[in-house]
Amino acid sequence: MPDERDDELRMQCFLALDALRAQFGSELPYKGVLDRGFEYGGQRVPFFNAMKGIFRAVAQRGPAALALMTSAKSPYDDEQTDEGFWYAFRDGAEELADNRALRAALADQVPLVYYVGVRPGWYEPIYPCWVVDRELRRVLVTPSPAGAAALVPPAEPERRYATRQVRQRLHQSRFRGVVLPAYRDLCAVCRLKERRLLDAAHIIDDRAERGQPVVPNGLSLCSIHHRAFDADLIGIDADYSVHVSRRLLDDEDGPMLELLKTFHGAPIQLPRTHAKRPDRDRLAERFERFSRA
Ligand SMILES: [Zn+2]
Repeated sequence: MPDERDDELRMQCFLALDALRAQFGSELPYKGVLDRGFEYGGQRVPFFNAMKGIFRAVAQRGPAALALMTSAKSPYDDEQTDEGFWYAFRDGAEELADNRALRAALADQVPLVYYVGVRPGWYEPIYPCWVVDRELRRVLVTPSPAGAAALVPPAEPERRYATRQVRQRLHQSRFRGVVLPAYRDLCAVCRLKERRLLDAAHIIDDRAERGQPVVPNGLSLCSIHHRAFDADLIGIDADYSVHVSRRLLDDEDGPMLELLKTFHGAPIQLPRTHAKRPDRDRLAERFERFSRA
């Protein structure tokens, strides 16, 4: 029975999310955006329920869940592996409505959305996702590769590939989700306040031993200053001062460059909380590389 799968409703949901991502980027606020739901058959259908993990909409004909959610408060509840995300049943009986909806998603092989909280009130929707396996009280959720047909579950190698990519992206998003709020969503160098243009830059590269994704190893930087920092065109010393490279300072080429140079010697914007400020040892280590460049 085609409508038992709610294929049309699911496609409308994915299209609505596509549109929101085009407008806001890959992280979406709940308030005022996701909480408005999407339109289907002349009514508004909620995307998910921010109060609980497993969601099946009243407008659905079929039994399977439309959405799963992990909040930013418990980011590691979902155990991530190369195969996908292990998602736990709701506490209580197997016959609870939520747990039935989760089991039906496995039985019916329907696409759904997995909303991952990346900071309080903000979610990254991952879709289409599939429930592909089950252990005692948890199921395995895997994404499709970008651009794959939304109504057909992908084969295992594609699922593994997509899982790897999504995990990397979520790792970045979660790092962003702790670093940017510490800087009140400002670029530490130029104070630009536009979330969509801000990144969480690593002071020490995450491949190195001291490169953990923790706030003291991060800096909130706009795209330009992030690129310039990574290319050693700007450096930040252990006393939190910005240095512009000799190469740039000696160059005379247009107003943008002049703008970059004006931050030479200026202090960076610091998090108010001391424990969240950039670690001076890491800054010193990184600044050495800048000085040699
Ligand atoms: Zn900037």
